[in-house]
Amino acid sequence: MENSEEPGETRVCVPAAAPPGPPPPPPPAPKKGCPKCFRPVDADAEYCPRCGARQGGGDGWYFHPVWILVLAFAVLGPFALFLVWKSKRMGFAVKLLMAAVILAYTFMCVWSTYELIAFELRHINDFREMMRELSGK
Ligand SMILES: [Zn+2]
Repeated sequence: MENSEEPGETRVCVPAAAPPGPPPPPPPAPKKGCPKCFRPVDADAEYCPRCGARQGGGDGWYFHPVWILVLAFAVLGPFALFLVWKSKRMGFAVKLLMAAVILAYTFMCVWSTYELIAFELRHINDFREMMRELSGK
């Protein structure tokens, strides 16, 4: 039986401060889809509880600022801006700095390529005129 009161004690009805019953359930954690198995995973979970895939991204080795710069200068060029944007390892100021460096590098590459092409074109024109003069004589 649930009556644990001592016998003889008068039961006084005191209004409870909180209504009885289970506490209200905590708000559900925000969910997001696992990038591998597409099942809902807690937004702050580091790994998918079902397939074990790393969640969120943004903290792989290629999101490290140094590696982003290496990738930007070696292969990616301006596409490394995507890594900068997605990276969780950098603050906003560092991201801006990284973006500026990568953009400056990209601009430099484009400019030097343009200069090289213009230089080559001038040479080709000179060569053509020389040939024309030679053949005209
Ligand atoms: Zn998964």
